[in-house]
Amino acid sequence: MGKQSEIVTSSDDEVYDIELEADILEANRKLALENHSKLKEHGITAIDVMGSVGSGKTSLIKAIVSVLKGVRKIAVIEGDVTTTIDADIIGSEGVPTVQVNTGKECHLDANLIKKALARLKLSELDLIFIENVGNLICPAEFPLGSDKRLVVISVTEGPDMVLKHPMMFHGANSVAINKVDLADAMEVSPSNLKNDISRVNPKATVVSTDCRKMVGIHEVIRSLGLA
Ligand code: MG
Ligand code: ZN
Repeated sequence: MGKQSEIVTSSDDEVYDIELEADILEANRKLALENHSKLKEHGITAIDVMGSVGSGKTSLIKAIVSVLKGVRKIAVIEGDVTTTIDADIIGSEGVPTVQVNTGKECHLDANLIKKALARLKLSELDLIFIENVGNLICPAEFPLGSDKRLVVISVTEGPDMVLKHPMMFHGANSVAINKVDLADAMEVSPSNLKNDISRVNPKATVVSTDCRKMVGIHEVIRSLGLA
């Protein structure tokens, strides 16, 4: 039998970092409330879309927008570290998009969303999707002022990703298990993932999706109360 793994945990000498982080989170929370009020003034519903790099956040937003764009006045805020690739994909649906490049940051925050909202004609909108940076850890800690959170995971991320990132699922209203068409090839069971999600967050609605074939898209829309 091999040597048992070492485990490192944080200790008292890191208390300064924790206080600093608490200030940042508190400032973010206040700005998120301001964003939320501004959205409500204009009667806008905002959905924060979170998930790993490559899970299919952009594809799912594009699929939802393609269904709803005739009946809702939609804009999309695209968070990305440096590129405009995703904003260009969404822009092809003919809805306004705002690109937010976070630079070194691995998540969106409420201040960036405040700036993005200033670029949109809010009086002409009633629905905004916010695609967060691909990351399953810190986006969960930074509310943006949205009404609901949609988390996108894919079977290509393996069987354990829900249990490894429970925080991401705690605040989710809906979870899409994407790329279900690849489940057999990946030897990952969507129903096991669904059970894991239900254990972490029994209130979340879980939908299996295949964005390329538009499977599950209407269910996601219904789960978010958008139709
Ligand atoms: Mg994307
Ligand atoms: Zn981050």
